[in-house]
Amino acid sequence: MTADLPLRLILDGAALVANWRWLAARSGAAACGAAIKANGYGLGARAVAARLAGAGCRDFFVATWSEAAALGPLPEGAALSVLHGVRAEDMAAACDSPARPVLNSVEQVRRWREAGGGACDVMVDTGMNRLGLSVDEALSDVLAGLPIETLMSHLACAEEGDHPLNARQLAAFRPLRERVPARRYSLANSAGVLLGEDYAFDLTRPGLALYGGQPGPDAAAIRPVAAIAAQILQVRTVAAGESVGYGACWRTLTEARVAVLNLGYADGYRRALAAGSWAEAGGVRCPLIGRVSMDLIAIDVTAATAGEGDWVTIPLDLPALAARSGQSQYEILTGLQDRFERHWR
Ligand SMILES: *Cc1c(COP(=O)(O)O)cnc(C)c1O
Repeated sequence: MTADLPLRLILDGAALVANWRWLAARSGAAACGAAIKANGYGLGARAVAARLAGAGCRDFFVATWSEAAALGPLPEGAALSVLHGVRAEDMAAACDSPARPVLNSVEQVRRWREAGGGACDVMVDTGMNRLGLSVDEALSDVLAGLPIETLMSHLACAEEGDHPLNARQLAAFRPLRERVPARRYSLANSAGVLLGEDYAFDLTRPGLALYGGQPGPDAAAIRPVAAIAAQILQVRTVAAGESVGYGACWRTLTEARVAVLNLGYADGYRRALAAGSWAEAGGVRCPLIGRVSMDLIAIDVTAATAGEGDWVTIPLDLPALAARSGQSQYEILTGLQDRFERHWR
């Protein structure tokens, strides 16, 4: 079964479950779901869903119907919602699928009703101005009689706890609970969970924090889930004063041993991530050096014993990488896709 790729994502299933449990506890009486769009933020949606369902998670969210289909059969007792709702092109797949659409516009509501109008979720825009019916549309008769499972909205600035838009969105969402019938109401993503139980309603929808991202300063309990393991393709001795890699921008001061790894920006390890990062080889921290190539990266293994064919580990400290690189934690994680063999432990 294994393809023997020279590149792996090492995934910590216990940490994933611990992060979900922590978020579930912080959600108070609300149920805690899981956003598994973008292939589980790059970790592998199917494996993530199986592990979280085993821990008691019942509500999963993907972006599109092709992501829903790629999940295969849902774990026992689990429900799946498709956040982008139903375009005309989606109706055949949507009517065939056990997943529910999250209806985002009056047009989508009309389309869903015409096809029979079964159980669905509805997104209302309370100030982000992204997807969703307006509050006025939601309060009109557009939704009358629709069997709404979850009425939801999404926070634009939850990562900034004191941003005034959070309270404004909360105030806009509350009256919907009184006036639009649905089985459950849901507002909070990962960062929204940290805003407190006022924001939790009946169901929270974390994504990033499940996967080891830090949605805010109060989330130190969140554990890293993913690390990169890359294989050494070659080790070479580089004389003092020589350069390594494209642009010759890294130079040795003294003779050095340099290992070349099977990892590059086409794997999602973008140039900006390398500076200040290191790989662990046999317990020794070896700095990443020079410019990241498309499929290769070099490390200085002068202080380590590392040879051709050995594996090294590159931890993914997401908040630190984001701060150094200007990429968000989300971009870093979701950038790691097809070229990794995923190893859960
Ligand atoms: C992606 C997404 C989430 C999860 O957000 P995180 O910030 O990753 O926790 C929740 N709700 C909606 C509507 C989303 O699109």
